[in-house]
Amino acid sequence: MPLEATPEKNTVMFVWFNHYAGVLIKTPTKTLVVDPVDVKARNLRNVDAILITHEHYDHLDQRLIAEIQKTTNCSVIADPASTKSLHHSIPPEKLQEIRPTAETKIGEVSIRAEKCNHPAAAPVTFIITSEDGVKIFHTADSLPFPELAAIGEREKFDVVFCTVGIAPNATPETGFEIARLTKPQVAVPYHTSTPAQQRQFAELLKKQLPKTACLIPELNNIYQVSKRK
Ligand SMILES: [Zn+2]
Repeated sequence: MPLEATPEKNTVMFVWFNHYAGVLIKTPTKTLVVDPVDVKARNLRNVDAILITHEHYDHLDQRLIAEIQKTTNCSVIADPASTKSLHHSIPPEKLQEIRPTAETKIGEVSIRAEKCNHPAAAPVTFIITSEDGVKIFHTADSLPFPELAAIGEREKFDVVFCTVGIAPNATPETGFEIARLTKPQVAVPYHTSTPAQQRQFAELLKKQLPKTACLIPELNNIYQVSKRK
């Protein structure tokens, strides 16, 4: 999985590395990792920031986060409940709490938190905008919610990650609904260990949202997406 390549201008690369919301994102200048769990710290070198969406076991692994942070000296940006759990293991100047609609920067890359419709303490989703304006929406374990339509309209996403399984009430249909509301260039079904759920999501997309491409990721493969024209 180590992602040695660097994306070209107006392009981002990503790797989905567990059956949950674990995604490594690389822009031309920065490397971000979201919800690292079930992954070796040695595969996550040169990380600039770790983003944590909520405190559930399949998203927050305190020991692993501390290990990655120590070796890379990266920043950690997390929802309030995860921030609380991390504050003994991460240096305070490297740990930042984020709440919905707050925005922060890692160099020229912008990170904005939004609401997350998931039964956790204070979960967030993340909008990541690369230095070239490539827009990624990491929706964590979220079920659809009405505000997604306005968020999609405002952001014009290139990539949206859509949960299709494992989380409470998450199905290919709820994942599809996230894509339908946000209307990205590319929709990525994830958070599942069942390829059939990803295929069902792809079918729904093809029938009902033909302008959005479906990218079914395989674990630990590298994908590249360019800014929409
Ligand atoms: Zn989860």
